[in-house]
Amino acid sequence: MPQKKKSGQKILKYNQDIRRKLLTWYDKTKRDLPWRKTKDPYSIWVSEIMLQQTQVKTVIPYYERWVKILPTIDKLANAPEQKILKLWEGLGYYSRAKNLKKSALIIHKKMNGNLPKTVKDLQNLPGIGRYTAGAISSIAFGLKAPVLDGNVKRVFSRLFCINDNGTTSSFENCLWEIAEDLLPVRRPGDFNQALMELGATVCTPKSPTCQQCPVRTICHAFLKDSVNKFPSTKKKISSKKIEVSAGIITKNKMVYIQQRVKNGLMGGLWEFPGGKREKGESLEECLKREIKEELRATIEISEKVMTIKHTYTNFRVILHVFDCQLQDKIIRPNGCEQWKWVSLSNLKKYPFPAANVKIVKYLTEK
Ligand code: SF4
Repeated sequence: MPQKKKSGQKILKYNQDIRRKLLTWYDKTKRDLPWRKTKDPYSIWVSEIMLQQTQVKTVIPYYERWVKILPTIDKLANAPEQKILKLWEGLGYYSRAKNLKKSALIIHKKMNGNLPKTVKDLQNLPGIGRYTAGAISSIAFGLKAPVLDGNVKRVFSRLFCINDNGTTSSFENCLWEIAEDLLPVRRPGDFNQALMELGATVCTPKSPTCQQCPVRTICHAFLKDSVNKFPSTKKKISSKKIEVSAGIITKNKMVYIQQRVKNGLMGGLWEFPGGKREKGESLEECLKREIKEELRATIEISEKVMTIKHTYTNFRVILHVFDCQLQDKIIRPNGCEQWKWVSLSNLKKYPFPAANVKIVKYLTEK
């Protein structure tokens, strides 16, 4: 590794150069983000969890609403899960919200309401891995704890011209070592944020703006004119497409919704009934079968009202939504946590998965 090949003195000087250049650049150009205006460990924790796999611009309104409604660990610990899921609605990866709540309960009951400071203690909480623990520990508590996310990996790969040549774990270990070596004693949180900021705004995956980069004079990939070789790209696995039919069933101006089982995918969220189309089935046949299975009832379909396309992490959904009428007086739903007839004015109070939110919007705004 380039780090290892250099003599001790040279490494020291190189590391100092990176720290100085990056921190100076960060002080001048850092983005004005709401979680950067606070030192409150709880708010920083919430922001870090929301930022996992989610873009900054998407997170901002969610973060602002969350800290306004649930401003403390105690408030979060005492909040009902439905309120938490509603605040998280549309942000995806709902286990993050549930783990925040679980952790808040542990902190509330066992830690006097204080978020732990060290990486080791933080990692004992649900939903906090090494990266998130490092970010919280360094940013909120000023401890010397490294971080390594996708942005930082890319920056290191280019700075030191190193690639993952098939042994992902040794590549990761090497990058963690670099992150640890580079981290200054003073301002570790700012340095970590500067690295992430560089990856997010300058050293981007495609077309990095090297001419504006504060470390271009010491970046090995830039100096060798080989930026596009780092990091090596893996073949993208195309995500699976799933076709789903869903039904809007109304009765006396109330609409039927059901809650997904708590321990399953997107557990605890509400949805319109329906399901995956099976081989050889039409969309209408699929919906009639699903309603028969889920509600133990028969429907007539009047018309298709919309098609919704939504991409989740590992699959794409095409959701075909139909207006339907119940043919039976009694329904006997099964396979769900609970079910309700809800007035349109109350529909928005329930948390739905992102694709279903579009049906709610259609019903409440038409
Ligand atoms: Fe990334 Fe270019 Fe800066 Fe190197 S010079 S760290 S490749 S933006």
